[in-house]
Amino acid sequence: MRAEIDTFLEALERAEWLALSGRSDAAGVEAIYDRHAALFEPEAFHAVEPPEGDSRDDLQRAHLREFLAEGIEGHRTRDLRDAYLAAEATAVVEVDGERIPYRRMPVRIRQEPERAVRVTLDKARLKVVEKELNPISLETTLRKHAVAQELLDTDYDDYCARLSGVDFDALESRTAALLAETADPYDDLLAHFGRRALPGLDLREMWTHDLARMFHGEEFALLFPGEAMVPGIERMVSAMGLDLTAGGRIELDIEERQSKTPRAFCATVRVPEEIKLVLQPYGGHDDWSTFLHELGHALHFANVDPAQPLEFRRMGDNGVTEGWAMTFDHLMMLPSFLRRVVGISDPETYLRFAAFRELAALRRYSAKLSYERSLHREGPGPARADEYATRLSDATRARTPRQLWIEDVDPHFYCVRYLRAWMFAGTVHAALRDRYDEDWFLNPRSGPFLAELWALGQEGRVEDLARDRLGVESLGFEPLMDMIDERI
Ligand SMILES: [Zn+2]
Repeated sequence: MRAEIDTFLEALERAEWLALSGRSDAAGVEAIYDRHAALFEPEAFHAVEPPEGDSRDDLQRAHLREFLAEGIEGHRTRDLRDAYLAAEATAVVEVDGERIPYRRMPVRIRQEPERAVRVTLDKARLKVVEKELNPISLETTLRKHAVAQELLDTDYDDYCARLSGVDFDALESRTAALLAETADPYDDLLAHFGRRALPGLDLREMWTHDLARMFHGEEFALLFPGEAMVPGIERMVSAMGLDLTAGGRIELDIEERQSKTPRAFCATVRVPEEIKLVLQPYGGHDDWSTFLHELGHALHFANVDPAQPLEFRRMGDNGVTEGWAMTFDHLMMLPSFLRRVVGISDPETYLRFAAFRELAALRRYSAKLSYERSLHREGPGPARADEYATRLSDATRARTPRQLWIEDVDPHFYCVRYLRAWMFAGTVHAALRDRYDEDWFLNPRSGPFLAELWALGQEGRVEDLARDRLGVESLGFEPLMDMIDERI
């Protein structure tokens, strides 16, 4: 079965890479699932004994069970996945005679300085979400809820928590505390940057498209040139004692192609032998940050020990790989990185902005966790749309459209992975600073230290890595919050 799973994952990743990098038109997810349908029968899931403890063998079975359950969900919704991707790819928004592909809308909206135009664009985008995408997402959610009932006879919240081995209640009590503790500093930052980026707007009238405009950070665009990005980061990775291509296992694709997605991404076609890092360097802080994030994923997977079993190479707690990705994108919050790698002589204002942006994302995901738990326990309905708008608006202070209640939901509680990655990346930064100083990213000993941890793949969960490899007994948001506090 393991060999077949490896083949399936390779086909899926390769198809996605071909489609998103603009080399082919259709992803063909349905056909790939159909070729490997036997993997996604409930019998295959039930044949794997549930884990009983924390031994290596238990972890292997826990990862495999979670993968197979998610595979059954994927298989049962494969037609909807293709329908969603097709609807998203072909939808066109028409505003005042301008025809804009739906996928370009987020970029178009945040680049628009005129608020009235932004309002019209956002309305038109939400119409597509409500008419074309929400019916597909709703049906997808209902089918996934049915899988949870069928496999573990429980609701989707409890099912995901049990399969992942993560205590959702404990995490939610941490995010609730974080929302309360960071409310005042967040409001101060919002007032400060709101005045700069959205002059004349009463911030009580702020919508999510205004927030997107603010985080676009136009005033910082020239500080982060596109053409300097790859060479600058390549020099940094070499200084760490590593190689940007991991000995040729990472293929960097910076070529321009018509239908290539504007956002950088990493495809793990074969782990660790064939990792694709795809991007179009435009420049700007968001571009640098996304490249660093995807590079963290690529270096992690390209350095996994090939002798590790499939369950540790390709499955497991995705909080781990998201944590390595964030370890790299959080470099944007270090003054020494901005000075020495990006070449910004006075990074103070940007640093405060970067910390604000991180805090906003953290607050948004904290609210998403509580909302998604409610959605997956109570089930979909109009009350959920109200709850979504209330929770997200409270956390971000930006009015959030209720039409996004089923669109803005991470598959299989991926928000949990991000939240745990935030805690883990904060801990990793503290460990690297203790061992190799403030400028650890230019220290030739930091790379081999990280590579040794990457070699494990996703064998342990984030708390196991923190405890066993970094000597940190309990993971929390404190190290990350210290880093943010220093900047604001
Ligand atoms: Zn990521």
